[in-house]
Amino acid sequence: MKPFIVIAEDEKSVAELLRYNLESEGYETAIAGDGDEAMLLLDERIPDLMLLDWMLPKISGIEICRRVRTRHETANLPIIMLTARTEEADRIRGLETGADDYVTKPFSTNELMARVKAVLRRIRPALMDDQIRVGDIQIDRTTHRVTRAGQDIHLGPTEFRLLEYFAQHPGRVFSRERLLDGVWGADVYVEARTVDVHIGRLRKALMSTGGTNPIRTVRSAGYSLRTD
Ligand code: CA
Repeated sequence: MKPFIVIAEDEKSVAELLRYNLESEGYETAIAGDGDEAMLLLDERIPDLMLLDWMLPKISGIEICRRVRTRHETANLPIIMLTARTEEADRIRGLETGADDYVTKPFSTNELMARVKAVLRRIRPALMDDQIRVGDIQIDRTTHRVTRAGQDIHLGPTEFRLLEYFAQHPGRVFSRERLLDGVWGADVYVEARTVDVHIGRLRKALMSTGGTNPIRTVRSAGYSLRTD
């Protein structure tokens, strides 16, 4: 699954440049042209990282940063603040607002791409690694090979994406709706029941080598991958 990055930037040329470069690097992107749009995008789907312009119409970048940090679902969302201001006081204020990094315009695209990678690697290591290990489950994201306690597990493409999604946030409980958005995509119409069917298949495949059930069902909340 491609990491999803929201670009909140009202200068169209800058936003398009960022989109072009991020998509060439294999990220999925969405652009918000003002603060309201940025908040709407965050409500629809929580990104893996946000590039946030400081001087944004309607709701400023600083205010968005503050709101993002106070909301439980987005409290840990990695944010790189973009700004034309260079004063040291602003820089410090930006960091105190809760941004993870800070880039001054005009920026070098290469440098920004390196910062994006660095922030993602620091905050969401599982997202950037080819190999993910959760308990005795090992996932190779390049070859799509999955093993459990060293034995091969055969998964269909949807089950693989489900497992990959869980493994990026081990222990976290996901509702069926969140899994639909994250694994199938927000614009695909699939019934919530479909999630149960694929969870069932994934569970069965993961237990085919004789191991215990690694997927926890949390009543009325959803599913999570056990970390032990
Ligand atoms: Ca601006």
